[in-house]
Amino acid sequence: MAESNTKPSNRLTSLTQIVREIDSAADLESALRVLVHRTREVMGADVCSIYFTDEANRRHVAAATDGLSSSIVGNVQFEFGKGLIGRVAESRLPVNLDRVPLELDQGFLLQAGAEPYRGFLGVPVIHKAQVQGVLLVRQRQARRFDEEDEAFLTTLAAQLGSAIAYAKASGEWCHMCRPEDSLPRQIKGLAGAPGLAIGQAVVVFDSDAIDDIPDRVVEDTRAEEIRLHTAIQSVRTEIAGLSTKLKGALSEADRALFDAYVLMLDSPEILEATASLVQAGSWAPGAVRQIIESYAIRFDSMDDPYLRERAADIRALGGRILGRLLGDSLTPIQQQENVILVGQQLSAIDIGEIPAGRLSAIVSGDGSPFSHAAILARSLGIPAVMGVSDLPLSQLDGQELVVDGNTGQIHLHTNSAMRDTFVARIENQRKQASTLESVRGLEAVTMDGAKFTLSINCGLRTDLKLAVAAGSSGIGLFRSELAFMLFNRFPSELEQLDLYRQALETMAPLPVTLRTLDAGDDKPLPYLPETGPNPAMGLRGIRFSLDHPEIFLTQLRAALRADIGIGNLRLLLPMISDVDELEQALGWLDQAEQRLIAEGFPVSRPPIGVMIEVPAAVYQAEALARLTDFLSVGSNDLAQYLLAADRNNPRVSHHLDPAHPSLLRALHQIVESAHKAGKPVSVCGEIAGDPAMGLLLLGMNFDGLSMSPAALSQVKWAVRRTTLDDMHSLAAQALSTGRPERIRKLLQTALTDIGLEPLVSESVPAKSPVTTAASQ
Ligand code: PEP
Ligand code: MG
Repeated sequence: MAESNTKPSNRLTSLTQIVREIDSAADLESALRVLVHRTREVMGADVCSIYFTDEANRRHVAAATDGLSSSIVGNVQFEFGKGLIGRVAESRLPVNLDRVPLELDQGFLLQAGAEPYRGFLGVPVIHKAQVQGVLLVRQRQARRFDEEDEAFLTTLAAQLGSAIAYAKASGEWCHMCRPEDSLPRQIKGLAGAPGLAIGQAVVVFDSDAIDDIPDRVVEDTRAEEIRLHTAIQSVRTEIAGLSTKLKGALSEADRALFDAYVLMLDSPEILEATASLVQAGSWAPGAVRQIIESYAIRFDSMDDPYLRERAADIRALGGRILGRLLGDSLTPIQQQENVILVGQQLSAIDIGEIPAGRLSAIVSGDGSPFSHAAILARSLGIPAVMGVSDLPLSQLDGQELVVDGNTGQIHLHTNSAMRDTFVARIENQRKQASTLESVRGLEAVTMDGAKFTLSINCGLRTDLKLAVAAGSSGIGLFRSELAFMLFNRFPSELEQLDLYRQALETMAPLPVTLRTLDAGDDKPLPYLPETGPNPAMGLRGIRFSLDHPEIFLTQLRAALRADIGIGNLRLLLPMISDVDELEQALGWLDQAEQRLIAEGFPVSRPPIGVMIEVPAAVYQAEALARLTDFLSVGSNDLAQYLLAADRNNPRVSHHLDPAHPSLLRALHQIVESAHKAGKPVSVCGEIAGDPAMGLLLLGMNFDGLSMSPAALSQVKWAVRRTTLDDMHSLAAQALSTGRPERIRKLLQTALTDIGLEPLVSESVPAKSPVTTAASQ
C-alpha cells in the first residue's frame, strides 16, 4: 500500500500553500493544473483529477488531471448517476474504496490501454448547496486512503466551490470544454428595478483608478489650488447641465439626485479639507484622492445598504474631478439604440449621459437596490440588475442581453423562442406600467374605503424632494445618522437644527418622523467610540444615546427647536429593547423640553414612537406603546435578530425570508399589542415596499407603511385595487400556515388577483432578502 508523502502535521501548511498558489494562477487552466499537480504530490497519489458538473447536459466533465493523459480533459464525461464520480456527486459524500471494481468507471482508461487503478477517493465540490464538481485521487495499487486524506481532500474541495461556479458563469470553463459557446445562459444578480428589457450591452470602464494616484509635492501651491478649483467648478457645471438635459426624461424630484452631487461639490467640509491639503503642499490629484477615499471609506463600511451606496456617489464625483485634473477623457459611450449600460460601479452620471430614450436597462457589478443607480433606473422606468458578481462584466460588451429586473436575472444567447416570449412580456409590461403611474396623486384607499398612510423613508436632505413628488403621506423614517456622517465630529445643535428645519419645512404640513441617532454597527461614525467586537449586538441605537446623554440631548434640543412654528415633527427611538430604556429616553426628552422652555423657546412635545426591531421589544410592545404615541416596526433588524441571519452577510441573506412564519407571527403580535394599547403601528423596513407584502401587512391591521419613494406607486396601486376583506383574508391565511412556500404562493396569488402580474410578481422571489445587502 502506498503512503502519502506528506505527514498530517504538514497537511495544513500544504493546504494553505495550494490554495495560495491556485489564487495566484494567471487563468483557470493553470489554476486547475496547479490544483491537481500539487494535490497528487501532497497525497502521494498516482492520479489527481477534477471533474466539473455540467447541469444543463447532466454530466460531469473532466476539467484537469495529473497522472493521466491530458486528452481526457473535456472528452471524458460521466452522465449523472453513472460511475464513481456520479456516486460522489449524488451522495454529496466522500467515496473511499481500496479496490475499485474494474467495470465501475474505468472503461475509458482500459479502452486507452491504460492500467486499471484500484485505490479511489473522491469528494464533492459544493457551492451554495449545489454540486459544482468532483475532486478525486486514484492509486494504481490497492490503497485505503485514511481519515486524514479524506479530511484534507474535503477541506480543499470546500475552498474550490465558488471559483468553479465563477468559472462556469464566466464561460471560462465552457471555452475549455468546447461546448457550443452560444448556448442560452443566465447570470444571477439582485433585482434592482423592475421590468424586462432587451438591448445591447455597453460596458462603462472606470477612467479613474483613484487608489493609484500617487502622492506628489508641489512648489506653487497657489497655482495648484486654482487648478483644483477650476476642475471642481467644471464638474459642477457639467452635472448641473446633465440635470437640465434630463428635464424631459426625469421629474424634478428625480433630478434631485444631481442636486445631491452639486451639494457634495459645494460642501464646505470637502472643499476646505481638499484645499488645505493642497495649501500644505500636496498636488491636487493626491489631495482629491485622500479626501474622496476618506469619505467613501466611511460610507463603504456601513452595513446599511442605502448609506453604503453613498460611497459610490462620492467615488464617481472624485473620478470626474480627477479626470479633469489628469486630462483623462471618459470612455465615449456608443450612440446606439437600446443601450444596456453595464459597469462595475455605475453612477447616476453614467446613466445621465445616455440620450433619453436610448437606455433600456442597467447592469451593475456592485451596488444594491438602494444605490442611486437603481433609484434612477426606477425613476426612468427601466429595469436594473445589481450586484452581478459571478463573472467579469467586461465579457458582456457588445452582446445582446435580456435584463430581467424582476428576478435579477440576465439572459445571454437566447434562442428565437425565448426571445419571442421576452418580447411579448415586454409589451405586456409596457401596458401595465402606464396603469401604475395613474395613482401618483391619489390616496391609498381600498375599493371598500379603508384609508392607509403610505410614507417615505429618507436619509439625505435631497431625498426630501423625492418624498414630496412621490405623493406620500409624509416621511415615515428620517435616518438622522446620515447628517452626522457628513461631519468629522458630532454636529452642533445649530447645525442639526438647520438640517431638521429644512426637512420639516419641506414636508409641512405632512409629518416627518425623525429617528434619533442610530449610529454604531452598520452606520459607524469615524469619531464614535468603539462599540465592541460584535457591533450589531453592541452599543448601537438608543444604547449609545443613553450612554452619551450630552449627544442625545443636543439632538433632541435641535429637533424640538426645529419644530417651533411648524408642528409636524414626530420622534422615533431606535433599538429599544425594554421599558426601562424607553423611560430613560423619555426622561431626557422631558429634560430637553423643560430646559428649552426655561430658555424661552416655545417648544411643544411632538408625538413620540418606538421602533420595534429587537425581538425583546416584540414581547413588550404593549407596554412600550402605552408609554408612547406610536410604534414603527424596523423589520430589517427585527428579521436579522429573529432569524439569526446577519443582514449584511450575502451568504445568509436568503435566510432573511419575509415569508418566514415566525416573522409574520411576530409582526402580528406587534399589531395586536399596539392596538390593545390604543396606539397606531406601521412598518418601515424593506418589506413594506413590496406590494404583496404591503397588502399582507395592511391585512394584519398595520395602520401604515413607510418605504422608498420608488416603491410607493406600486404599493398604492395594489391597495387601491383590493378590499380590506381581501387583505384580511390574505393575512389570516398566511398566519394560519407554518410553511413559507405556502405563504409565498398566497402572496403570488394576491398579485395575480389584482392584476399586478407579470409586472411585479417575480419581484417576490422564492426567498427575497428582507434587506438586500448583496447577492447570495
Ligand atoms: C429597520 O431596521 O428595519 C430599519 C428601518 O432601520 P435601519 O434599516 O435603518 O436599521
Ligand atoms: Mg434598524
